[in-house]
Amino acid sequence: MPAPSTHSNCANLRHPKWRDVPDSQWNDWRWQLRNRVTDLAGLAQLVELTPAERDGIDGRAGGFPFAITPYYLSLMQGPDCPVRRQAIPHRDELVRTPWDWDDPLAEEEHSPVPILSHRYPDRALLYVTHNCPVYCRHCTRQRKVGDARSAPSRDQLAAAYDYLRRTPQVRDVLVSGGDPLSLSDTRLEQILAELRSIDSVEVIRLCTRNPVTLPQRITPQLCERLRRYHPILVSTHFNHPREGTAEAGRALELLADAGFSCGNQMVLLQGINDNAEAVAELGRWLLRHRCRPYYMFQCDPVAGTAHLRTKVETGTNILDRLRGQLSGLALPKFVVDLPGGGGKVSLTPQRLLRREGDKLVFRDQRGREYNYVDRPKPVEL
Ligand SMILES: *Cc1c(COP(=O)(O)O)cnc(C)c1O
Ligand code: SF4
Repeated sequence: MPAPSTHSNCANLRHPKWRDVPDSQWNDWRWQLRNRVTDLAGLAQLVELTPAERDGIDGRAGGFPFAITPYYLSLMQGPDCPVRRQAIPHRDELVRTPWDWDDPLAEEEHSPVPILSHRYPDRALLYVTHNCPVYCRHCTRQRKVGDARSAPSRDQLAAAYDYLRRTPQVRDVLVSGGDPLSLSDTRLEQILAELRSIDSVEVIRLCTRNPVTLPQRITPQLCERLRRYHPILVSTHFNHPREGTAEAGRALELLADAGFSCGNQMVLLQGINDNAEAVAELGRWLLRHRCRPYYMFQCDPVAGTAHLRTKVETGTNILDRLRGQLSGLALPKFVVDLPGGGGKVSLTPQRLLRREGDKLVFRDQRGREYNYVDRPKPVEL
C-alpha cells in the first residue's frame, strides 16, 4: 500500500463553523463569496490568531485588504500552514526595505492605456477587475488590487480595445486583474467577445486564481459560455500541494474537458513552498489534472513581502534537485521578473562547466562530468 501523502486531500474539508451548511450552498460560489471572512472579529472566531497575525490585520487596515473564502479557510491548519500564511496578514507585512517597490514591474510606465500593460511586443496584459476571492499576501499588484478606485471603467475598457485594434503586433492578451472570474459570466463573456472580435488577437489567456481559492466558481455553464471564444488558455496560480483538493482538481478537469489549455504559475515563498518536495508534489498533482506547471516565480520585491521572499539560489537549487528525477512535464521554468520593468529572465542550474576547444564539459545532477563535442573536426582514417 502506498504511504499516505502528508497532504491527504479529503474531499470537502470544512471548518466546523460551516459543518451544517447544505452542500448545495457550500458548492455555490455566490454563497462562498457572500460568506467571505473580511475582518479581524470574524476571523478571530474561526482561527486562533497569533499576535503577529493580529498586528498584521490591524496594521494593514485601510491598505491592502484581506478576504478569505470559507472553502480556502477550511484548508488552514496551524500558524505555519502554507494556506494560512498566504491569506492571513502578518506583522512582517508592515516592514519596508530600501529595495522594495510599489510597482516592481513598472507596469504603470508601460501602460498606453491605464488598464493595459504592454511591455513585450506581442503580448499585453489587461486589468479587468480589482476584486479577488482571496487577497494573497504576496500579490505583486497590491498597490491597486482590492481597491475599488482601480476598478476599470467602461471608457477605459473601450480605450484598451481601441489600442489593441490599432496595435496588431499584440497577438496574445492576458485577461488579468484582480481576478477576472470575480466578474459575472455575462461581463466576462462581453470582454472575451470584444477581444475575439479583434482579428490580430490570436490567443487569450485567462489569468485566474479561482481554481485555488474558489474552485466552485468553475461551473459547466461558465465553461460552456467561455469556450466559444477559444483559443483561450487558462493561467492559474497553485502554490502548494495542500491546495490540491478534490474540488480544485474537479475545477481543472472541467476546464480541460472544455478545451482550455491550463498552465500554472507558482511563486516561491519562504517557508511555504521553497523546497523540492513541495514543488514536485504540486507538479505531479497538476499534471494528473491536465494542468502544466509553467512558471516558478521568484517573489517580486513588493513592499510588505520581504519576509516571504527566498534567495534566488533556492529556485535554481530546486530545479537542480528535480531535473532528471521528475517528469520534465511536471517541472516549471524558474523566472525572475526584473524590477524596474526589465521583463522576465529564466534561470537554470549551471550545468555547463567550461569549454575546452571543441569540447564542452557538463556536469550531471550528482556532479559527474560529461563531455560533448559540438563541432568535431574530421580525422583522416
Ligand atoms: C508576464 C507578462 C506577460 C506574459 O509573459 P510570458 O512570458 O509570455 O508568459 C505579458 N505581459 C506582461 C506585462 C507580463 O508581465
Ligand atoms: S489572486 Fe492574483 S491578483 Fe488576486 S490577490 Fe492573489 S495574486 Fe493578487
